[in-house]
Amino acid sequence: MIIKLYNSLTHRLEEFTPIDSNNVRMYVCGPTVYDRPHIGNARPTVIFDVLYRLLKYKYKNVTYVRNITDIDDKIYKASQEKNVDIKTITNEATEMYHSDTLALNVLPVDVEPHATDHIIEIIEFIKKIIANGYAYEINGHIYFDTVKFEKYGQLSNVNERISGARIEVSDNKRNSADFVLWKPADDNFPIGWDSPWGKGRPGWHIECSAMSYKYLGKQFDIHGGGCDLIFPHHENEIAQSYVVNDKMPAKYWIHNGHVTVNGTKMSKSLGNFFTINDLLDEFPGEVIRLALLMTHYRSPINFSKELLVKAKNILNRWYTAIKNNYRCGNDIDKKALDALTNDLNTPMLIAYMSDIVSDINRGQKFLIPTFVNTARSLLGVMTLSPEDWFKGNVVNKKLIEEEIAKRTLAKKNKDYITADEIRTKLLAKGITLEDTPTGTQWKHL
Ligand SMILES: [Zn+2]
Repeated sequence: MIIKLYNSLTHRLEEFTPIDSNNVRMYVCGPTVYDRPHIGNARPTVIFDVLYRLLKYKYKNVTYVRNITDIDDKIYKASQEKNVDIKTITNEATEMYHSDTLALNVLPVDVEPHATDHIIEIIEFIKKIIANGYAYEINGHIYFDTVKFEKYGQLSNVNERISGARIEVSDNKRNSADFVLWKPADDNFPIGWDSPWGKGRPGWHIECSAMSYKYLGKQFDIHGGGCDLIFPHHENEIAQSYVVNDKMPAKYWIHNGHVTVNGTKMSKSLGNFFTINDLLDEFPGEVIRLALLMTHYRSPINFSKELLVKAKNILNRWYTAIKNNYRCGNDIDKKALDALTNDLNTPMLIAYMSDIVSDINRGQKFLIPTFVNTARSLLGVMTLSPEDWFKGNVVNKKLIEEEIAKRTLAKKNKDYITADEIRTKLLAKGITLEDTPTGTQWKHL
């Protein structure tokens, strides 16, 4: 079995050969935590989860690191707006990211480093960049000198991009592409950590270089993220890591395409902004997951409710086909695997799975166990029993259970108003509750 992946660094489809087949290592840039995750956050999370599943299928040990960016001006702004401290904002948003992506059947990663827990490592990394002559200090700011690093721009062909891209404007910098490694505490983020350059905070790019080095070493196999990270984020990560370790930090650079909603860029003001949590009120997590996988990961995806309805119809058809002979086997369908090893071709995989369903519907019931296991293992869908799927078809089972847990707690605290509100809210979705001595049971009307 050969896995082929499109490498953004070489612009080619390449055969994946790990540096150490006893420990395949992948780093993916994770969320900046200040808000409910939206569908734009969900896409890379689900795509790299599929890649992780595929790698785990082939290799015995896979180390998947996905960071949490918990230092950012947006975080401080959110804490001011909500009038709570930064730690509360980042803890809550991290929780939300975990629970919402868990509802999409995303597997937990192996290491999830937070930037705030790695200030010492980040400072050490910056010191090495300075010692090697690739950074300079101006007024408490440390900048990376992009002109000194001759290989700057190898991932993004930066010279073509530089004029149009989002680059920090500053009078202090020597060159317009230079980027900040450390900056002093200011009104945008008044919290600071002690450093040789005064109280301040790290830039965003350096956090990924320092943390990927700590957990995956000088060079690892895969570095992933959304295509909007190619420049400047990943270009700058390469520059930082290269001048410290004299190596390309990762062999394969994998990027997913943009997410638009109803044909336009997602934005809160346009009202086309879907959080995962909002969508989970209307659709089971598996439906959202499948909808994201119906487009090839490198293509832009145009997300809409219609797409979710399409995904739901597919899963309805799949669950209907297995309903009366439901069994999960241990084998993986060979052709399904071929689709996935071909640069994660999930649309081809889904089309092929639908063909198997047609065969099942024509009476080939013996295909069911392998079909179910393939859908589960590779796509991360069909994880419910058909009974639960049809019961929870309109709403998400996990969310109902969360609501029930909240209601139980409210009742325990004698907060009957909240308990009643939850019952009413669930009833509006067609869910009835019955309190029994062993707990609350629910039924879908
Ligand atoms: Zn990153």
